[in-house]
Amino acid sequence: MSLAKIGLLTLARIFDPRLIRATLALTWRCDHRCLTCCIWHDGQHPAELTTEEVAKFIENNNLMWLALTGGESFLRTDIAEILHMAMMKYASVSISTNGSQPGKIEQSVMYALKGNDNILSINLSLDGDKAQHDKFTRRDGSFERVTETVDRLKALNNKRVSINIQNLVSPITADGWDWVQKYTLVKNIRLTYSIEMRADSYYRNEDIPFVKPQMPPMGWKISLQNPFTYLYIRKGRQNKHLKCVASTYTVSITPDGFTKPCWFLKKQCYNIRDTNYKLISLDCKDLVDKCEMDCLTPCEGYPAMMLRPWRIL
Ligand code: SF4
Ligand code: SF4
Repeated sequence: MSLAKIGLLTLARIFDPRLIRATLALTWRCDHRCLTCCIWHDGQHPAELTTEEVAKFIENNNLMWLALTGGESFLRTDIAEILHMAMMKYASVSISTNGSQPGKIEQSVMYALKGNDNILSINLSLDGDKAQHDKFTRRDGSFERVTETVDRLKALNNKRVSINIQNLVSPITADGWDWVQKYTLVKNIRLTYSIEMRADSYYRNEDIPFVKPQMPPMGWKISLQNPFTYLYIRKGRQNKHLKCVASTYTVSITPDGFTKPCWFLKKQCYNIRDTNYKLISLDCKDLVDKCEMDCLTPCEGYPAMMLRPWRIL
């Protein structure tokens, strides 16, 4: 399905609210040790949804957009199969990765593209040059691996594969912003930002001292390259609460199947294992409407900008 068609479907949903995007965390496991994230830290590895369970979830729900995340999703041995099943069903699939396994990621993407014409967005975390990125991930060689992944994906030369660099907006990564902007311009790939957050259920970093990050500077080339990034940074600079669309349009799902309105509220709803893997109402709109958290992560910020565009003015 083309981007234009996805845009039209999104417009139609503005007037017909329903769950259209799920962010499914496939695992909490990760092979990086990023300074702002503790997903890897406490050893909680719940009973992850099996391949068959993920297949039922995909089969039983009509979403417009499935966002796969982790942890590091490519640590799952069945990731190629999951990606392919998702691509066969959904117009738009995205997956976040730290890019630590260039060969496996390339092979999985090639497999996922077979037999369908849907769009796959791959969000790769990159937070500076070699010294800065390796220091942040606490994994020697992580910079080489993620940039090799970028090069391999670019070499596929497939218009259905959208390669996005995701740069964290945190005081800890600020020294690398300039380098990452230049890198994406040289490579001609999209740059997105992800604002650092605190959450017990996802990053598991609530105990780390938090310094509210400033938004990165942005040249006109970036705004031409990706207007959404421009709007995202502009909104972040306004320092005003963006009323989100969590639980109306978006749902987050833990690796063991629990639904949540977003990663940042403690609220946990039903488990998809109890609903035959079918999404039903989260029944927490009031909770979300009352939420005043200053929250602008891509999971919730971008859907809010797309489905309630007047809120970003
Ligand atoms: S931020 Fe991502 S890559 Fe880094 S430790 Fe957390 S899950 Fe892993
Ligand atoms: S504003 Fe509140 S409800 Fe919305 S994503 Fe952030 S924490 Fe969740």
